[in-house]
Amino acid sequence: MNYDVIIIGGGPVGMILAGELALAEVKVCILEKLEDTTPYSRALSIHPRTLEILDLRGIKTELLKIGKPLPTGHFAGLETRLDFTVIDSSSNYSLFIAQSETEKVLERRSRELGAEIRRGTEVTSISPNSEYVEVTVTGTEGEMTLTAAYVVGADGAGSIVRKQANIPFNGTDATLTAVQGDVVFKRPPTSSVVSSFNENGMIMIVPVTKELHRVVFIDPDRKSIPKDTPVTLEELRSGMLRILGDDYGISNPYWMTRFGNATRQADRYREGRLFLVGDAAHIHFPAGGQGMNVGLQEAMNLGWKLAAQVKGWAPDGLLDSYHEERFPVNSALLRNTRVQTLLFGTDFSSTTIHLRRMIADLLEYPEANYHLASQIAAVDVRYDVLNTVSAHPLNGRRLAEIKLRKGNGDLLSSYELFREGKYVLLSLGNDPIVESIIRRLPIQHFTYVSATLVEPAIDWNNVHTAMIRPDGYIAWAISNQESELEQCIEEGIKSISKK
Ligand SMILES: Cc1cc2nc3c(=O)[nH]c(=O)nc-3n(C[C@H](O)[C@H](O)[C@H](O)COP(=O)(O)OP(=O)(O)OC[C@H]3O[C@@H](n4cnc5c(N)ncnc54)[C@H](O)[C@@H]3O)c2cc1C
Repeated sequence: MNYDVIIIGGGPVGMILAGELALAEVKVCILEKLEDTTPYSRALSIHPRTLEILDLRGIKTELLKIGKPLPTGHFAGLETRLDFTVIDSSSNYSLFIAQSETEKVLERRSRELGAEIRRGTEVTSISPNSEYVEVTVTGTEGEMTLTAAYVVGADGAGSIVRKQANIPFNGTDATLTAVQGDVVFKRPPTSSVVSSFNENGMIMIVPVTKELHRVVFIDPDRKSIPKDTPVTLEELRSGMLRILGDDYGISNPYWMTRFGNATRQADRYREGRLFLVGDAAHIHFPAGGQGMNVGLQEAMNLGWKLAAQVKGWAPDGLLDSYHEERFPVNSALLRNTRVQTLLFGTDFSSTTIHLRRMIADLLEYPEANYHLASQIAAVDVRYDVLNTVSAHPLNGRRLAEIKLRKGNGDLLSSYELFREGKYVLLSLGNDPIVESIIRRLPIQHFTYVSATLVEPAIDWNNVHTAMIRPDGYIAWAISNQESELEQCIEEGIKSISKK
């Protein structure tokens, strides 16, 4: 066999997954048809939960050097912005950074960790059997067949993996297209985000780099134009003038495109030895800037599970839990983007203007605002985790960063414990029983730390010991009041491994 895992597609999702697998010393290869990283901005926003998972692996710091933090997000371009600052997170903002930059960072990291990346290599067929998968490619080295124990389709909306595995891609075709351009303004707007909705259409303008701004609009008279019809500078200018009344001296288009609202999800994310991740598993209107974000989050969900399987310690059901956990999250995402499309792309009458005003007013209420902000930020995700040993409210929730003090007085962030991509067993009870349990068990694949909380954290105040998954979700937490403490901790540690 050539590899443990072959990933088809080296976009952002394939790249981060390769990094996760290489970190776990899995022999992994990416097959990517493009010779180079995409030069286009595409996904511009990295939202709070994605920043958190990047922080777990120490990647966030590098992206912060390039991107621009923005404290708010949007829902359907409504006038009241979503406030990320109230989210209980050390990443309570969105990072504006071009996808091309994000991809470069992720590719560099994957290579450094030992992933093999074969660019200029197009996959033409995949044939799985009971023991491995054959992947046929064409490229600079001619045609050849490679083999791997598992294959992941991170190959975007047109996924060959999804098609050849006959996995239905259920949903709806596009009913509209939007126009987008990354352009230079001679007279740039003074506010960092411009957004407007009226009977002439919907428009949003955000900065991409120091020089470039992104203009996106839906023009009721032009929204039936097919996606592959080229966009012109004149179309951008006239749209801006009609909807906004100003073209800000638009010039020098760097990238112009048209995109639609086709909304689909793969029926299943796993078919035997084949997996789907990112746009290969779901597509939707890029409303609220969520597509790359969810893709990166699910790559983090799949990476350690696949590594556990390859290394032979995955408990029963772990690989299937990838679909079970992520499918409902993405069903909710598709509902969210459909509603946004309805609110800003479908009808431009005075009724819709009033409806939008009403919802914008409701978003002035902190709880309503938080409800939608936490969806877009993806901090509301909670998994029905496998094999829990207690009924603690933290089970299945994300780990928000907490500050810890070790026995020797050293301070550390809970996120620093995840750099190696392992489970973390966090003992807050200062109870020697935990170490004695660890000593008698043969299970090694976790990082153990005994520490105390530096500041009270409501959710954690009664926690004796917790096991946190490599992707930063809590597998189980056990409270100080637990009557069968020793048995629960032992069962909990055993539960992360094969019986
Ligand atoms: C205009 C626009 C704006 C967007 N804005 C945002 C945003 O602000 N925030 C956000 O989160 N998301 C946004 N998105 C969505 C985001 O760009 C995608 O969700 C993201 O690129 C998905 O990443 P991926 O790695 O799954 O797939 P892709 O980026 O599509 O990568 C798939 C890769 O697979 C390769 N490939 C395909 N077939 C083969 C084959 N047979 N053999 C070898 N290689 C193959 C392709 O060359 C490609 O490199 C936007 C999208 C668009 C179009």
